[in-house]
Amino acid sequence: MPATATAHAGPRIGGLTPFTSIDYPGKLSAVVYLLGCPWRCAYCHNQHLQARDAPAGPAWPALKTWLRGRRGLLDAVVFSGGEPTLDAALGPAMDEVRELGFATGLHSAGMYPRRLRAVLSRTDWVGLDVKAPLDDDALHERITGVAGGIDAVRESLRAVREAGIAHEVRTTAHSSLLDDAALLRLAGSVASLGIQRYALQLARATGTTAPRALNYPARSTVARLRTMFAHFTLRAD
Ligand code: SF4
Repeated sequence: MPATATAHAGPRIGGLTPFTSIDYPGKLSAVVYLLGCPWRCAYCHNQHLQARDAPAGPAWPALKTWLRGRRGLLDAVVFSGGEPTLDAALGPAMDEVRELGFATGLHSAGMYPRRLRAVLSRTDWVGLDVKAPLDDDALHERITGVAGGIDAVRESLRAVREAGIAHEVRTTAHSSLLDDAALLRLAGSVASLGIQRYALQLARATGTTAPRALNYPARSTVARLRTMFAHFTLRAD
């Protein structure tokens, strides 16, 4: 999908979380949500951000003005989405955020490894989604609705590790899409690469998923996950 925003105009913003302590571990952050994502994950909670031409939120110049007033109150700005690497103006926007004195965080599902590589030198921390075992494209397609995605995710993970940037691999999981066995396969495929930080985020029900099974994941699965990573986090609401 071609990127349509220009560096001049700034990225196309769909929304803003002005203050969060959980989207960039250890930092007080604002989260800027960029518009556009070609995947259609059944559990997506940001469906309003999927269309590149969805109604935009604040314009980039106005957001920068707001950020100037947040200096000393926030540590970082996290770019999320949608899929933020879709936007050609992401890199210049990250540069400007750093010039304002903030660290830069990036949430990505890893679908555009070349675009991800292009912004890694401007990124201080990456949260990379891995949605299925790294060798299971069929399951990845079932979750995202798009074939061939897992190859891109593997390449993106390689890029982040080669760049030596602080990162967390995270999985949003729903019992109807990723059962305990698949979850453990996924975690095993990530742990075998030497990933130290892994977070499991339990998806809530959306219009396209049933309520999450009450016993998901099993206690024994969580116990296994804790042994596989130096830092394991379970996020549930
Ligand atoms: S990759 Fe993220 S933004 Fe895109 S559909 Fe999936 S959950 Fe939603």
